[in-house]
Amino acid sequence: MKKVQQTKSPIDGSIYIERTYASPEDATQIITKAAEAHKHWRKLSVDKRASYCNKAVDAFIKNKEAIGEEITKQMGRPIRYAAGEVAGFEERARYMISIAKDKLADTLLDKKEGFERFIRRESLGVVFTVAPWNYPYLTAVNSIIPALMAGNTVILKHSAQTPLCAERLADAFEEAGLPEGIFQIIHATHETVAGMIKNPDINYIAFTGSVTGGESIEASASGLFKGVGLELGGKDPAYVRADADIPFSVENLVDGVYFNSGQSCCGVERIYVHKDVFEPFVDGFKKLVEGYVLGDPMDEATTLGPMVKSSAAFFVREQIEDAIDAGATALIDTSKFPMDVGDSPYLAPQVLINVDRSMRIMTQESFGPVVGIQQVENDEEALQLMNDSEYGLTASIWTNDKDKALELADDLETGTCFMNRCDYLDPELAWVGVKNSGRGCTLSSMGYESLTRPKSFHLRTDI
Ligand code: NAP
Repeated sequence: MKKVQQTKSPIDGSIYIERTYASPEDATQIITKAAEAHKHWRKLSVDKRASYCNKAVDAFIKNKEAIGEEITKQMGRPIRYAAGEVAGFEERARYMISIAKDKLADTLLDKKEGFERFIRRESLGVVFTVAPWNYPYLTAVNSIIPALMAGNTVILKHSAQTPLCAERLADAFEEAGLPEGIFQIIHATHETVAGMIKNPDINYIAFTGSVTGGESIEASASGLFKGVGLELGGKDPAYVRADADIPFSVENLVDGVYFNSGQSCCGVERIYVHKDVFEPFVDGFKKLVEGYVLGDPMDEATTLGPMVKSSAAFFVREQIEDAIDAGATALIDTSKFPMDVGDSPYLAPQVLINVDRSMRIMTQESFGPVVGIQQVENDEEALQLMNDSEYGLTASIWTNDKDKALELADDLETGTCFMNRCDYLDPELAWVGVKNSGRGCTLSSMGYESLTRPKSFHLRTDI
């Protein structure tokens, strides 16, 4: 009997969607079809591929209201923010489509008498995208569109929490008239995913998710010499210098911490504040956080929804309790957030001070609506603490001194350095993590490099 995948809505714990898992045999058929389709798709011009992809984006955004509602029901993000996911998907997709022709063009070498030489970027074959629920379209688009534009075919396995996101994308490509086999989806167990990775017709795996998930993917691909792109977790720090604009920093950092209930890979999880501005920063921060409305995410008034699962909220509650036991001070009175009871996925926002690196709230990814704020003496201490992490996804510096920010940024062990902003991906910049935050790079012109391979042409023309 085939196993059934059930998706519980965090709103009320009800089963929102059920899907039958593909069997290993189904998975093999899907891969074979993708490998067959690649033979034709790779021969199509970049302009033709762009036309299909742009039509698919048009078809996708036409349904933005329904898509937004589904995101909320599947993973709990407040409906008032749902439009941002579709808009971000379009921004990234259109940008990657727009640069494809230039990025995939042959690299011609300087003339050499009697020779013609150039380097061509070739597609890899079948790209297998494994995507998470927290930004279900914004993460998946990073590999799907550039992979297709580069002439690869794509199989998408979305999170069991957000299976409708895979189906919406499949519908959009179908409406765009994309020939069969070029973009396919699969609802699959972890065991089936591991088997698929070992199939010789899978040529690249684009994984976005947790460090433990990434370790499993890498283990499945071990010894096969396949490319694996890993976009993993973070414990992103911010440093507020004494010369920062405090109201501006407070407003932006509150959003950077609590948006999506803190379930953002590049959400801010640790804040270091210079001692001269610690008090006004913390006062302003606390006041803003107290204004959050925790509730039913389908209600337009709600600004903080439930976490994705009770178990995720339990994990964060434990981190907070451990920190308080070790001497941290909690600034938010959670009794003002009546939805936060027992083991509910509805978790009140929390701000902790008197924290240090001995507490896991300052080192382990929380992925929830909580932040630790620590006072620092100077730039050197802030830099040392920001780098004191097994992660390195983004880091932000809040200051009016660009030169100082650049000096600090130069020594930061991170994929992205921000000044006076945070928690945002610009598709024109490379999205990359260091340390346990990942390997490889998506978006920007460099996003095409891992999804293609160079082929050298060396022609003698003087005989
Ligand atoms: P996750 O549990 O690792 O799952 C991510 C995807 O991988 C899902 O489709 C999941 O399938 C699948 N998966 C997980 N373990 C697997 C295994 N052993 N074998 C095969 N497939 C496996 O992560 P998540 O909870 O969805 O996402 C949150 C994490 O992702 C956080 O750590 C966050 O920081 C990170 N993230 C990083 C980025 C980035 O750009 N760096 C972006 C977004 C999120 P199932 O759902 O079926 O288990």
